[in-house]
Amino acid sequence: MMRYFAEQLFDGYHLHNNVRFEVSNGKITQVLTRSTPADATVLKGLIVPATVDVQVNGGGGVQFNDAPTLATLQQMARAYLTVGTGTIMPTLITDDLDVMRQGADAIAQAHKWDPAAIPGVHFEGPHLSSAKKGMHSDRHIRPLSDEEFALFTRSDLGTVMVTVAPEMVSPEDIKRLTDAGVIVSIGHTNADAHTCLAAFDAGATAATHLFNAMSALTSREPGAVGATLFRNDVYCGLIVDHQHVHPISATLAMRVKGDEKLMLITDAMAPAASDSDHFYYQGIKVLRQGPTLKLEDGTLAGSVLTMEEAIQHTHFDLQMSLVSTLKMATSTPAQFLDIDNQVGVLKEGACANWIALDDKLNVTDFWRNGQRMS
Ligand SMILES: [Zn+2]
Repeated sequence: MMRYFAEQLFDGYHLHNNVRFEVSNGKITQVLTRSTPADATVLKGLIVPATVDVQVNGGGGVQFNDAPTLATLQQMARAYLTVGTGTIMPTLITDDLDVMRQGADAIAQAHKWDPAAIPGVHFEGPHLSSAKKGMHSDRHIRPLSDEEFALFTRSDLGTVMVTVAPEMVSPEDIKRLTDAGVIVSIGHTNADAHTCLAAFDAGATAATHLFNAMSALTSREPGAVGATLFRNDVYCGLIVDHQHVHPISATLAMRVKGDEKLMLITDAMAPAASDSDHFYYQGIKVLRQGPTLKLEDGTLAGSVLTMEEAIQHTHFDLQMSLVSTLKMATSTPAQFLDIDNQVGVLKEGACANWIALDDKLNVTDFWRNGQRMS
């Protein structure tokens, strides 16, 4: 058993001063506020739950689709911890059934290895709109069949999240998926607002990377963006790298959705949290150009954003409060995934996964299962 003391601690919801807590077997066992250091190890900086990212395609130099193995997932998880993310939903983008099955097998192993680091999987596609495919490969975009349904509802994958275009997957099929325990998010969609609202009514609870690769909000056509902003009960991910979404649009989305429904995501690829400057997706080379990743034709292809940077952009550039900013990176995505008793929070019974931030919100240290890893 270890005892720790933090002068400043964010527990996922609120800031506290002078917090003493104990860690036993990788879990937080006792939390006392307004305490004294006494015999505890004193932690420097602002102590925050390790962040939760529901959309990461790669990182640490490796790409999940390109090498759908346990080793890839472990490398991603280890690389992300250094930039403050303790929980990732590895995201497999549109691909053929074989790659999806290999990815699922790797997830099953990774989920056993460390369920707090890898609580499950995010399948982004393949049931998407070709008109809003972004970098997804047209030749693998297809309707939902029994084979994918069986894959999405495998019992050994932990939490399964699937991004679908609601013009490709009917409300009946969305209900069938959510009844089977799958979290459905709409995205890569050109659907009108009513089609999106029908998907939410059928059980979809989120929108994937709001604004990007979806029908826009205009005066007479509210689109997927309008439907998502309209529904108070719907979560959405937002890529705050100042490349995918203009800071004004990002700020408006945060004002409308609030910190209990908006999740900071990175949608990051292999070069994130690494020195690598390119990666391959289905044989196509994607290049890092400063703060962006682009195909050779200039299409944005995911990000090199880290959660550390997303937090800095949100607090310092968008001027969201520190509490709101941190909630959107910790407890809100954990609640969305229904794992907020384990991760994205620092409370009794939760995993002892936390990070220390300095006053510029740089990650200075990180702990996994109560062990300092930095
Ligand atoms: Zn996407």
